[in-house]
Amino acid sequence: MQTKLTYEWGEGVYTLLSWFKKEKVKNARVLVAGAGALGNEVVKNLALFGVGHIFVVDFDQIEISNLTRSVLFREADAYSHSYKAEVVAKRAMEINPQIKVTPIVGNLFSEVGFGLYRSVDVVIGCLDSRIARYQLNRLCMRAGKTWIDGSIENLTGAVRVYAPGISCYECGLSREEFNNIMLRTGCADVVRTQSKEGRVATTPISASIIGAMQVQEAMKVIHQNEDEPSPFKTLEGKMWRYEGMTNTTSIYRFASWKKNCPAHERWDDTIKGEGLSASMTVAEALKKLKKIAGTKEVEINLRNNKFVDVIISDRPEKEFRVMLPESKLDSYIKKSEELRKLSYRTLFHKHFYENINEDFPYQDLTLQQIGIPTFDVVEITTEKGMRHVELTGDANLYE
Ligand SMILES: [Zn+2]
Repeated sequence: MQTKLTYEWGEGVYTLLSWFKKEKVKNARVLVAGAGALGNEVVKNLALFGVGHIFVVDFDQIEISNLTRSVLFREADAYSHSYKAEVVAKRAMEINPQIKVTPIVGNLFSEVGFGLYRSVDVVIGCLDSRIARYQLNRLCMRAGKTWIDGSIENLTGAVRVYAPGISCYECGLSREEFNNIMLRTGCADVVRTQSKEGRVATTPISASIIGAMQVQEAMKVIHQNEDEPSPFKTLEGKMWRYEGMTNTTSIYRFASWKKNCPAHERWDDTIKGEGLSASMTVAEALKKLKKIAGTKEVEINLRNNKFVDVIISDRPEKEFRVMLPESKLDSYIKKSEELRKLSYRTLFHKHFYENINEDFPYQDLTLQQIGIPTFDVVEITTEKGMRHVELTGDANLYE
């Protein structure tokens, strides 16, 4: 029989590093957006450092083609179509059983509570599309969090660090890039099926180099201390670029912070909604929100994810009752044979609700059923103006 060793992770190893603060790392909370090639490397390194609580978000399933550059995936995971976030979490806790890794299978923008963004020390972006970066940037800026973006292509890669007040992804977009994003995210009443951006060729080398740099920058953010001068130089407002063909690395200034950029809106006014949870019905939540905000009228604004009750096809003209948040519509259509076949020749228009008050006809649905994730922050309109209230009753799900 094996006897278990009693030890503390990193004891006698990391403790030799002058800058390493064991308690800070152990208590750190890091959100990793994306569990692909970069996400694998990033989570592996965070686990090796002993970062106490890691949250991994990804909606995708593992495919055979992922195996060439994803250190935490196995062949069997691809055959079983396992979710990337779940497998990454499980394997990282095998590497370091003293940490907690919480997987979230879902969309970053509409299915991760904003309270979680507010509660972490730093966010690491391991994404492969502009739209996802644009959306993640908005959330991080709103929460006042630094986010570390990684990108890889062929033998090259780059790390960019965005921080509120210093640099913003949206400010750095060209007019053309911005219009392209708007084209793909806009148009409220038409249902569009998610199209994947073209697959980019990458190697395990660029993934591990860029992922490693991202975690190194994250460790610097975790160790930030306003009372002491930092021993580190960070990449805040800069881009670090690695070029494997020629073995060159370079640092560029990359800061862009324009006036009137809509991404700079901060939700610093957020009130904690003790006892408020996404598992409450709309009726219960409206009642509680009135109490918390001290107002007579409350209307929840579904900013990220509207509630769709019916979709209507053009040809033939037909109505389908779906009762789903917008973010779930795409996979719902793909799963239903009738809708999937129709989707090739018709446009679906949706009937949706984005302002939820006492007139909303489905009062018995829970907040989660209408598309508000657990531990989210809801924006409400009241007779005294706009308020932001956290579903603090769900915080224990993320401890
Ligand atoms: Zn901006």
